[in-house]
Amino acid sequence: MGEAGHTDGAGERSAMVVGGGIGGLAAGIALTRSGWRVKVLERAATFGEVGAGLSLWPNGLRALDALGVGDQVRRQALVETQAGIRDMSGRWLSRTDTQELDRRFGPVVMIHRARLFDILRTALPAGTLCADAKVTRVGLDGQHVEVEHGEEVSRADLLVAADGIGSSVRSALWPQAPKPRYAGYTTWRLVVDTQQRLSVGGESWGRGERVGIAPLADDRAYLFCVANAPEGQRNPGNELAEIRRRFGRWHAPIPQLLAAADEEAVLRHDIYTLPPLASFVTGRAVLLGDAAHAMTPNLGQGANQALEDAVTLAALLDAHSDVESALASYDHHRRPRTQLIGRRSDRIGVAAQWQSAPATALRDLMVRLTPGSALLNSLAPILDWQPPGRDDPLADQAG
Ligand SMILES: Cc1cc2nc3c(=O)[nH]c(=O)nc-3n(C[C@H](O)[C@H](O)[C@H](O)COP(=O)(O)OP(=O)(O)OC[C@H]3O[C@@H](n4cnc5c(N)ncnc54)[C@H](O)[C@@H]3O)c2cc1C
Repeated sequence: MGEAGHTDGAGERSAMVVGGGIGGLAAGIALTRSGWRVKVLERAATFGEVGAGLSLWPNGLRALDALGVGDQVRRQALVETQAGIRDMSGRWLSRTDTQELDRRFGPVVMIHRARLFDILRTALPAGTLCADAKVTRVGLDGQHVEVEHGEEVSRADLLVAADGIGSSVRSALWPQAPKPRYAGYTTWRLVVDTQQRLSVGGESWGRGERVGIAPLADDRAYLFCVANAPEGQRNPGNELAEIRRRFGRWHAPIPQLLAAADEEAVLRHDIYTLPPLASFVTGRAVLLGDAAHAMTPNLGQGANQALEDAVTLAALLDAHSDVESALASYDHHRRPRTQLIGRRSDRIGVAAQWQSAPATALRDLMVRLTPGSALLNSLAPILDWQPPGRDDPLADQAG
């Protein structure tokens, strides 16, 4: 039996976190700060994140503050000063009042994923993270959980499944859970050196296709391209040629950014969404991040919600005297919120990927006619989130 996460007689509580992505690292930090003994098991031999940008919204930044790393993240990120939606010719359909957004909720920032990942990784105590530790079996045994990885079997008081959209822990412990569903569109993501700081940002919508641009710190830009496509379709070695073909005649600076890009920098992923689960909790196991609520990226909230999950889980475990009622409260608070955001994100994706000329003309008109204040108001329930405090009423509302 492994020493890593076993319960100890002195009463120190122990947790095994499966998955060392943003959600797993955040859970590891949050639980460690609450006095738990934690192991984060990651199947990859080295820890790292993909070469792409990530939007962090005021809610996610508040969660990062609660993890003690918010200021570090802000120093490495770039505040979004220009956002909104254009058509493929570059005409603005809607401009986000970023100053008003900042005033009401706080800034939205863009960061390179690898930078966020490094900040989270170094915030964990040495020895907490185990690379090359693929979890092959999990079990629930009354007050304990068992986790098998390699030759080792570890016991702990809590299992946090943060193993992503394809979660094998979810398949094992939530056998009735629905499978992820293809959203009907695919993305190409790339980071480009721009030599100077780009002043533009935002999304541009066409017919069944769209592009997003976000300046990053260090004179780089993050570009994401989206298109309706059959699931699994690929152009090996020619993904850059494919997006140049699709988007090379769109408005500046899209062609210029694509011209400056390298094929090796292009990441291609089909977009999936996880249909709503009936519970995030079973026994002493809990789902967190994409394992619980993988959502389409149209609101840029997936990682932000994983950060909220982590902070909330640790706060509720602090506030409740027993693990079971803390987990019931976690399910009660996190499931409706994340599933609502997931549904909203899906709906935006459907309209953004409309392909027919009449539908896209109507959509663009609607976007033009929607006042900016209505957009900000609609975001309020997402961006208003505050981390629960130790004496937070959240604890009293346990489900
Ligand atoms: C195109 C795109 C753009 C996006 N943009 C944004 C954005 O701008 N803002 C935002 O907030 N979100 C965004 N997201 C969503 C965001 O990337 C995810 O929500 C977030 O990364 C989920 O983190 P996670 O830790 O839950 O899962 P993951 O990042 O998937 O991490 C899971 C980890 O578990 C490990 N693992 C899996 N199985 C095992 C096992 N058996 N044993 C051990 N380890 C295992 C994996 O190797 C992996 O490291 C985007 C997503 C996509 C696809």
